[in-house]
Amino acid sequence: MPDPKPSGRVRTGVYPGTFDPITLGHLDIVKRALRVVDRLVIAVASNDGKGPIFSVEDRVAMVREDVKDLAVNGAEIVVTQFGGLLVSFAEEVGATLILRGLRAVSDFEYEFQMVGMNSRLKPEIETVFLMASDRHQFISSRFVKEICRLGGDISQFVTPAVARRLERQLRS
Ligand code: ADP
Repeated sequence: MPDPKPSGRVRTGVYPGTFDPITLGHLDIVKRALRVVDRLVIAVASNDGKGPIFSVEDRVAMVREDVKDLAVNGAEIVVTQFGGLLVSFAEEVGATLILRGLRAVSDFEYEFQMVGMNSRLKPEIETVFLMASDRHQFISSRFVKEICRLGGDISQFVTPAVARRLERQLRS
């Protein structure tokens, strides 16, 4: 596994989330994040109150598989699990930015509060919001799981590898 500590003067950003599982919406944000940072640490939350259906190890494995070809032009992507306080983790890996995706108004309230709290805890770390393309903006892990559970086609929302894992997890 690559060292999550930075080398030299690179701009490092952390993209935290539950990724239960990673969707094309998350991947859209990862691609955009790579235009902003040289080194992206995708931090998969291990202590999540959302009750994920995949273990943190499985979620990390799916993210790794999905992003493996995205690091181009010298950019670096590190995928790792994290627990505890996000701002402390960000500092530990040398990140100056936290990257989050924003979907319409539904995410705003929660994200707004999180930025406020995090900036009190660690003012030197900036949070940057990115929006996915129209095609990907509405995708959420929660609805993908629901559609899959009900036997619907999830191929436009996740990669084939993730779709297979979801079907195995939810339909067997
Ligand atoms: P969390 O539990 O931290 O919200 P998620 O895996 O649900 O974890 O989301 C991680 C981040 O990715 C959040 O900032 C979320 O808003 C963003 N995100 C998820 N899906 C999309 C999408 N379709 N478009 C834009 N941002 C998204």
